[in-house]
Amino acid sequence: MNYQTILEDIQEEIKPLLGQGKVANYIPALGAIPISKFAMAIKTIDNKEYSVGDAEESFSIQSISKIFSFALALKELRAELWERVGKEPSGTAFNSLIQLEFEHGIPRNPFINAGALVMTDILTSTYNDPKQTLLDLVRELADNPKVNFDEVVAKSENEWGDRNRALAYFIKDFGNINNAVDEVLDLYFHQCSLSMSCLDLVRAFSCLANAGKTVGANKVIISERQTKRINSLLMTCGTYDAVGDFAYRVGLPGKSGVGGGIVAIMPGHFVISVWSPGLNESGNSLVGTKALELFTTKTKTSIF
Ligand code: GLN
Repeated sequence: MNYQTILEDIQEEIKPLLGQGKVANYIPALGAIPISKFAMAIKTIDNKEYSVGDAEESFSIQSISKIFSFALALKELRAELWERVGKEPSGTAFNSLIQLEFEHGIPRNPFINAGALVMTDILTSTYNDPKQTLLDLVRELADNPKVNFDEVVAKSENEWGDRNRALAYFIKDFGNINNAVDEVLDLYFHQCSLSMSCLDLVRAFSCLANAGKTVGANKVIISERQTKRINSLLMTCGTYDAVGDFAYRVGLPGKSGVGGGIVAIMPGHFVISVWSPGLNESGNSLVGTKALELFTTKTKTSIF
């Protein structure tokens, strides 16, 4: 399969769509990103990489970071984790408060904001310096010591973070957050601010396509079983209330972020990432979703 040519064809095909959707503007640092940015990268499990566009340019990975914190929490808590978070799609927006009251502070899944806040609470309880532990993991996985938090974005997330603050206090009132809300939010805002490129992302998530082992170094990061579980949850919960549409069109487990990035996994074959900052109503990259749909259609590869 000539992935490079396929990526180049997709880059041409999506050109007329660039500019559609809306760049996230809840914080100024994100609103300033040009909507015309586009990048795609793939890493195969036989350690080949292909990319087009601004694939080495770092952007705010936002909710894609929820995979890192979930993977760490899963390693730490295992069975107990499922008393604190569910495994079902929410059918509501990523930052919705609605279900929490009916469901007594147990978020539907680890990939909506409420669930991610519970994961960051677990990491806050587990590690002395959870921000550093998370950053060390991401740097190791991406094989890039330069990956970092973007302090401007993190500060801005905090300044405009009243909805996340509300979620965290609400969950704490139900007894499902144990640490001080400010501490939990500090970790959450920093993880959202992680700045990475499309190439960093495919390297960092190569273990999800490779039964839990990094591609290249072959280091075991998570077990095969945990890998299956993370991918399953990404399939059913990774793109919020558009998860059905994403599954229908792309056919791969994936995770999006409001920075316009999406990562998708074809277990046993490759990891693919895309970046285009214009978002659809669900907060997923509009052109990014289209590019992934074109990719799985052209290559006839999907988990179905
Ligand atoms: N920082 C954003 C928030 O907490 C992340 C949301 C996202 O990427 N979907 O709301």
